[in-house]
Amino acid sequence: MTFESSRAATIKSSPSMAVSLAAKAMRARGEHVVDLSLGEPDFDTPAHVVEAAVDAMKRGFTRYTAPDGLPELREAIVAKFKRENGLDYAMDEISIGNGAKQILFNAFLGTLEPGDEVIVPAPYWVSYTDIVILHGGTPKIVACGVEDAFKITPERLEAAITPKTRWFLFNSPSNPTGAIYTADELKALGEVLARHPHVAIMSDEIYEHIVCGDVPFTSFANACPELKDRTLSINGVSKAYAMTGWRLGYAAGPKGLTKVLNKLQSQSTTCPSSITQAAAAAALNGPQDFVAKAVAEYKARGELVTQGFSAIPGLEVRAPEGAFYLFPKCAAYIGKTAPDGRKIENDTALASYLLTEGKIATVPGAAFGVEPYIRLSFATSRENLAMAIERTADALAKLR
Ligand code: PLP
Repeated sequence: MTFESSRAATIKSSPSMAVSLAAKAMRARGEHVVDLSLGEPDFDTPAHVVEAAVDAMKRGFTRYTAPDGLPELREAIVAKFKRENGLDYAMDEISIGNGAKQILFNAFLGTLEPGDEVIVPAPYWVSYTDIVILHGGTPKIVACGVEDAFKITPERLEAAITPKTRWFLFNSPSNPTGAIYTADELKALGEVLARHPHVAIMSDEIYEHIVCGDVPFTSFANACPELKDRTLSINGVSKAYAMTGWRLGYAAGPKGLTKVLNKLQSQSTTCPSSITQAAAAAALNGPQDFVAKAVAEYKARGELVTQGFSAIPGLEVRAPEGAFYLFPKCAAYIGKTAPDGRKIENDTALASYLLTEGKIATVPGAAFGVEPYIRLSFATSRENLAMAIERTADALAKLR
């Protein structure tokens, strides 16, 4: 019996999860693998956030909440946008979900008609295109390689817009490249979008706080206030507060849109866990020193990997401005042959070689819509990163 619907068959499982599972299986067999495949902070969730969750449980705060969340969480989100992004939102302009991923899911489910186009600059986060496809949309991918500083230009955005364009979806700081759009770059994109009133903007700002270089983060709606009423600003607690397993994302946008998102939430998961919501409110309202400490560590690691991987011949490295990823171009190694005779035909083959020969788990650029690159997450200890640099250099040196 076939269970899979034609709709489910249009997408694949998350490729970064697949690499991480392969690395885990190797570890289970006793092999020592350095896993740079997952974008997940390696710190513990701050103690005051955990305590808020325990307290919520003890108070019997264990029931359904409204689909759009606890009033205290929505208030915390409204206050966050005001405090950190200079943006004013009303309580009914907020939506929450089980992770930013579910917000994206609800947003496309709620707005796409078959054949609608979504402009996605590549490299993009692995899930964007599949979520769009699953909801009947067509991703319109605009490739932006290292030579473009991994960013879409106003000209290329203009050229990608058609009467069918529904959304422009982008991510800054970027997974997988670490690129951050400056306020001026956002304004220039905004000028193009202002000329096309049928295009809405989805700005994924989940790595907002993780800034490693000199370019400060700017929220799109802040840079382009005239477009705020057609912008969905997406964020969450996963990355900033090391809360990936808690599952809480949030977004702010025009009421007509958040109403749709909240309706879909009411008929899917009802609401994120009440306990997680209490914890997320504590994260947003509480002391922010955890974030500063984590970011200082990411910065040091970012410098370590930028230096280490730049010194490996044939890797073209751009220092990340934010997030916790390095995305070296590896064209020099494509077409080479491994000691066991296998041909490195593309970046997928290279990542597979690095895993089996070097015992380093990375994700190939193909998963993010551009080749040939590999993505390395530096959300792991400096010791692991030093080991990864050494192993990568050794494994690559064996290719002929
Ligand atoms: N957006 C980007 C760019 C991401 O990298 C991720 C997670 O890796 C998400 C969204 C999803 O985050 P969440 O844990 O809030 O679902």
